[in-house]
Amino acid sequence: MKIAVVAEVHLGEPRVGATPDTVKRLVALGGTVVVESGAGLKAGILDAEYIAAGAAVVASAAEALSGAQVVLKVRRPEEAELSLYTPGTIVLAIMDPHGHEAALEAMAKAGISAFAMELMPRITRAQVMDVLSSQANLAGYRAIIDASYEFNRALPQMMTAAGTVPAGRVFVMGAGVAGLQAIATARRLGAIVTATDVRPASKDQVASLGAKFIAVEDEEFKQAESATGYAKPMSAEYQAKQAALVAEHIKKQDIVVTTALIPGRPAPRLLSAEMVASMRPGSVVVDLAVERGGNVEGSVAGEVVEIGGVKIIGHHNMPGRLAASASPLYAKNLYNFFETMVDKSAKTLAVKWDDELVKATLITRDGAVVHPSFAPKTV
Ligand code: NAD
Repeated sequence: MKIAVVAEVHLGEPRVGATPDTVKRLVALGGTVVVESGAGLKAGILDAEYIAAGAAVVASAAEALSGAQVVLKVRRPEEAELSLYTPGTIVLAIMDPHGHEAALEAMAKAGISAFAMELMPRITRAQVMDVLSSQANLAGYRAIIDASYEFNRALPQMMTAAGTVPAGRVFVMGAGVAGLQAIATARRLGAIVTATDVRPASKDQVASLGAKFIAVEDEEFKQAESATGYAKPMSAEYQAKQAALVAEHIKKQDIVVTTALIPGRPAPRLLSAEMVASMRPGSVVVDLAVERGGNVEGSVAGEVVEIGGVKIIGHHNMPGRLAASASPLYAKNLYNFFETMVDKSAKTLAVKWDDELVKATLITRDGAVVHPSFAPKTV
């Protein structure tokens, strides 16, 4: 059972799909782990550490991938890499399938069995495999760290002989995994924190972290959570009411972090240019949804832009900005899923193609795009 770990070719992806800890576990499962030299460097992991954990380190991706039955990655293989993959290889990665049909077709053509970790069902059994949560948690933390870096004032209240510095005000929009960690981090830094979400369940979670919940709590709000625990798209009427409430609130905020996502759809627009303009110069907005179209008008992916003295942070890949923390969690998520594909007594691959986790995440197999949400429609 040859398992390959390769360096990410995607620009700016510093995370890695395995760590010395998961390599040890993979070897114990019966795997022969081959790591491309330097694959862990940007996440702070040396080749020597992989070797000490039981992996072989090779000079190139081609060598690592040659004959590999399993590949553990962060991003989906790019077209140029696919010729190095053996048909039938199991690839575990964040596949980013929405709107990328050509890339999915290319993976199908290469004959690989591609599993999209971000499609893992949010059920108890799969919590240990939930890359969205493990990575979003760090993104929420980093959003506050980045915002406080760009902010021109202190966050905690400070009472000094020379006078009092007031506490900063932080508003978090979207209180899912990232948002809750942003709230907790801002509270730890001493800020006065408020938060909003369209899911009623989030109200108590926000309060439990010591933040105040701000939302239009009408009948639609009470029904806004889908059976899978995600937010439903809200009506235009609700969005208008929410926007009016936010417009009033935002004028008094120093830092706003937006995290709102709807799976498979563009991110909802939460802050208009007018709202941003109503904030004091020196304030900071972090748009964590910037790569999904953005929650904030004017945010630019990969940039910090300044509009009317307000900085809007649109960094790419927030979890990647903490690659040495993100990689161990991500790698453990991959390992936990992969472990379910192995016959532990025979120490061989034994994918249960009928398992609900396999069915929910498998995108391509045997030359075709097989996932019901992404397979070409036959009319
Ligand atoms: P997400 O990343 O999809 O979205 C972030 C947040 O934005 C969500 O809380 C969402 O409700 C909110 N949002 C969407 N539209 C909005 C709008 N117009 N205005 C304000 N907020 C808006 O969400 P997530 O962090 O992945 O979490 C989604 C849900 O899944 C949460 O209930 C979370 O607790 C739950 N969850 C369950 C498990 C599990 O059971 N294994 C694991 C992780 C998360």
